[in-house]
Amino acid sequence: MSLLDGRIQSAAGCATNTTRPLTHPSGTSRAGGLAVNATHEEWRPVARDRGYEVSNLGRVRSVDRIKVDSIGRRGRYRGRILTPQIAKDGSGRPFIRLSGVATRVHTLVAEAFIGPRPEGMFVCHNNGDPADNRVENLRYDSPRENSRDILRHGRHYEANATHCLRGHEFTPENTYARRRPNGNAHRRCRECRRILRRKAA
Ligand SMILES: [Zn+2]
Repeated sequence: MSLLDGRIQSAAGCATNTTRPLTHPSGTSRAGGLAVNATHEEWRPVARDRGYEVSNLGRVRSVDRIKVDSIGRRGRYRGRILTPQIAKDGSGRPFIRLSGVATRVHTLVAEAFIGPRPEGMFVCHNNGDPADNRVENLRYDSPRENSRDILRHGRHYEANATHCLRGHEFTPENTYARRRPNGNAHRRCRECRRILRRKAA
């Protein structure tokens, strides 16, 4: 049993659940900015890096380890819950660095609790919230369904944007729709088109 389990159980002051701890005595906690209501948190090893474990609630922790430095001294490092960073690409996806390698949290949860990702499939969030990486919110699905999810839940950064990349507002007058080769419509900025045409002329 880890240090974390012992601490949380004594804080809860009850011995009804001796196998797995509550995330918090109230059953609610905030993990990486994500509110979780849970009674049962299960940790599994991260196959791609044995220095870490991932839970069914979408939390990641490092495990206790012994490190040996360049002159042979041994130091013991306690495992801890890691705080995810949020991708700055507008997707809102949390990622975490495992031994320096940036890895999406949803990938770790899906691999540990659903299984290996089938070729060509994506990890999809059932409720459209990319920060909600509880296993029950995740599934493997086709890229097409993944995009539909994102649009259905209105989280597509392009669909949500109020301004174009150059900062012109997407007013009805300044917006036109264009179809991509794959058939999806997306918004374009008229002012930008004017600027580009002026440059081309
Ligand atoms: Zn523009």
